[in-house]
Amino acid sequence: MPYQPSPSRYADMPYRRCGRSGLKLPAVSLGLWHNFGDVDVLQNFRAILHRAFDSGVTHFDLANNYGPPPGSAETNFGRILKEDFRGYRDELVISTKAGYHMWEGPYGEWGSRKYLVSSLDQSLRRMKLDYVDIFYSHRPDPDTPLEETMGALDHVVRQGKALYVGISNYEPAAAAEAIRILRELGTPCLIHQPKYSMFERGPENGLLDLLGEEGVGCIPFSPLAQGLLTNKYLHGIPDDSRVAKGVGFLTENQLTEQRLRQIQQLNNLAQQRGQSLAQMALSWILRDERITSVLIGASKPEQLTDSLRCLENLPFSAEELARIEAVLG
Ligand code: NDP
Repeated sequence: MPYQPSPSRYADMPYRRCGRSGLKLPAVSLGLWHNFGDVDVLQNFRAILHRAFDSGVTHFDLANNYGPPPGSAETNFGRILKEDFRGYRDELVISTKAGYHMWEGPYGEWGSRKYLVSSLDQSLRRMKLDYVDIFYSHRPDPDTPLEETMGALDHVVRQGKALYVGISNYEPAAAAEAIRILRELGTPCLIHQPKYSMFERGPENGLLDLLGEEGVGCIPFSPLAQGLLTNKYLHGIPDDSRVAKGVGFLTENQLTEQRLRQIQQLNNLAQQRGQSLAQMALSWILRDERITSVLIGASKPEQLTDSLRCLENLPFSAEELARIEAVLG
């Protein structure tokens, strides 16, 4: 039986305007960094993608190196697009990135025009797409002039291989410069993708202000701190968790006693709000109107459904916010 998207898929999801652009993104977007590689189970990630689209999640975020092995998340996503989402391309916002190591030699990473343009060509071949909606510079390159990196982003838009461009992991000063260069080139910066969660507060030091002032969207990644901001590690390390699988950057030594105490206290606060901790962690980010969307991961369809329920209780009282700050210290 071929996949038929739910007819009510647009009923509950709010769509937020991305900065001052014409593009709206779902308040919750799905990233394919983990759980969509060749090491993962096809039927499971197929089910996650179905669940997402059925729930109004129209934005899927990839990068050249997602897997493992690198590239396999794009290949697997391309396969499911072809098999299940044929006819729905115009309802999807698909992003990819280049910046981290992808192939051997001097042209396989960072921010040269040589690397970015050829990497996007490879990504399009893997996903079997003519264009992506958003193409990102995945990280700033200290050795390449920013004009060249931004020039390459402008170039791929003019080639028709990307509709919009974004930057990721750029600190405020470099982001401001990138935004200025892109504006002068006539390809405005659509969006910034920083790491941001209750446990990672970096963007509050100027980045969110900059993006708000410049009318650039913001889509925080790892808003659940890779799973720490959920109830999953409260009673040990489950076998099917990211920590146990040992495939990424989340390691057991991050589960310190102090961290676990904070997670427990945040979990209690979430329960008082009638939410799971995952839901509260996402609502907490979405309460800021400069945030366009939260970019979550999920290893099972049920997690996605749980996380999406963050939308049912977005406002926080001043007292709730103060209690969260007290826990975070
Ligand atoms: P999250 O912080 O949302 O972590 C996702 C993990 O949390 C899941 O794999 C799962 O862990 C756990 N989880 C999710 N929902 C629940 C739930 N409701 N209850 C319990 N556990 C839950 O995000 P990611 O770190 O996965 O990053 C999201 C996306 O951000 C990536 O896919 C990618 O697109 C982007 N990203 C971008 C980066 C960049 O440099 N631009 C860097 C990193 C990510 P488990 O697997 O243990 O079940």
